[in-house]
Amino acid sequence: MAQVQCVRCGNLGEPITEPLYLGKLETLVKGNICAACWGEWVKMRVMVINEYQVNLGDESGRALVKEQMFSFLKLPKPEQQPQ
Ligand SMILES: [Zn+2]
Repeated sequence: MAQVQCVRCGNLGEPITEPLYLGKLETLVKGNICAACWGEWVKMRVMVINEYQVNLGDESGRALVKEQMFSFLKLPKPEQQPQ
């Protein structure tokens, strides 16, 4: 499988192969993030959920986690991409 140019660590890395269940963001994440950095986010996500006591059944809770994911992975936000 092709390697991915990761925007977080700046290296060519192994692609993420497992399903992420992120809907529209799945392509964005898989196209820009290597498997190692994703693994770091998976650990960080647990800390974020605990620290902010996020209720994932809540729309605002999911939005907060998504916000944290974008800044942790240094992903360009879809609505903030330069023209
Ligand atoms: Zn990476």
